[in-house]
Amino acid sequence: MKELENKSEKSRREALKLFAVGSVGFLSLFNSPKARAANYETPSYARGVKTVTIKSVKAITTAPGGSNLVIVKVETSEPGLYGLGCATFTQRAQVVVPAIDTYLNDFCVGRDVDNIEDMWTSAYLNSYWRNGPVLNNALSGLDQALWDIKGKRANMPVYKLLGGKSRIAVDTYTHASGPTVEAIADKVQQYMDQGFRHVRIQQGGYGGVGTMDFSPDFKKEGFSRTTDDFTDPAEYLRRVPKMFEYVRKKCGEKVELLHDMHEQGEPIQAINMIKELQNYRPYFIEDPFSPENMTWFKNLRQATSVPIAMGELFNNINEFKEPMMNQLFDFIRCHISQIGGITPAMKVARLGEWFNVRTAWHGPGDTSPVGHAANNSIDIVVFNFGIQESQMFSDRVKEVFPGCPTIKNGYYYVSEEPGLGIDINEKEAAKYPIRARGMNTLRKSDGTILKP
Ligand code: MG
Repeated sequence: MKELENKSEKSRREALKLFAVGSVGFLSLFNSPKARAANYETPSYARGVKTVTIKSVKAITTAPGGSNLVIVKVETSEPGLYGLGCATFTQRAQVVVPAIDTYLNDFCVGRDVDNIEDMWTSAYLNSYWRNGPVLNNALSGLDQALWDIKGKRANMPVYKLLGGKSRIAVDTYTHASGPTVEAIADKVQQYMDQGFRHVRIQQGGYGGVGTMDFSPDFKKEGFSRTTDDFTDPAEYLRRVPKMFEYVRKKCGEKVELLHDMHEQGEPIQAINMIKELQNYRPYFIEDPFSPENMTWFKNLRQATSVPIAMGELFNNINEFKEPMMNQLFDFIRCHISQIGGITPAMKVARLGEWFNVRTAWHGPGDTSPVGHAANNSIDIVVFNFGIQESQMFSDRVKEVFPGCPTIKNGYYYVSEEPGLGIDINEKEAAKYPIRARGMNTLRKSDGTILKP
């Protein structure tokens, strides 16, 4: 018996030796200079998939819904294969165009469409000075278009390449704005009837614009431009708790209520107001302070546990690092094209996962439908998804962007088409030219500018 065991052990060792010798020989075949040269000519990263290069990068502008939109189209060496990305910096749309048509086109032509990470980082650093909204939006258009192309090449929707589904669909919030609390509550009820579980409530425009019953002194004296808006931040701050009280009482507990402060009021006044909201259980309060007032978050966190969303005006993904590590807010509220596209947004989202900070990407009408498709592609994947701001697109917008995301029962259902699942009809897009526009300046009665 023992002899038999020794014999089998010996043959096992011999077999292993043979295998080792064989492996070395086998591997050396691939490590030889000849083999390395062969690998150089046919890059190993492209094994099994034909290498495709960028033929051109161009901007397409359109405004079918009123807001200026900028789309990047990346055409490739493969006939008929192209990708689309959102590069919408709506307030300065025209200046994003040369950043795409001149700089990105020259930088990208001839490069491999598959190397998105390298393309992003090299284009980001190539300008030396970086993190501005113009260049970040241009870069986002390129980045999203390359993800779109990658999905088309893999014959998969982008979300599958990012990690696949973590949920059935993307839960969204919609907007109920009105001049009075009664009108707002009626709208909330209508949205609840349509299936929405989350509704943002605003009385008038941001900071109560359009609902103040006074005529500002600066207008009487002809100070500033006639189009400038005005509000009374103290009156606005007094109204918000009353609005929450009324809507919560009228619409019940089965709806989540959100509100965007748009940085109105002095930081200490904002903290006092948010404390008053605690009893009405807001889902989140957005942008309580401007990005210039980040240090106030520590005071806010000590004063109240009302959930906070922040980051819409962040351009630099590093701006999220300290607030997340210190858990200063609960929702990542950023405009994906503003930070440079899907690639950096995935990094921010993953960082949030470690600190229980959830995503709530910016998704108003001045995010293009292509940008909404990119938002949804991340939302459906990341574990720490929170909520998605939604947009109901008009028929005109849908004609320009076939494959526009649609909402059912308060959910965005992601496209199952390869890539981002959205296209652009360039002929239709050309019917709606963009125009120079920024935000109206907002002032107090005496003419002092308020941060938007
Ligand atoms: Mg906002």
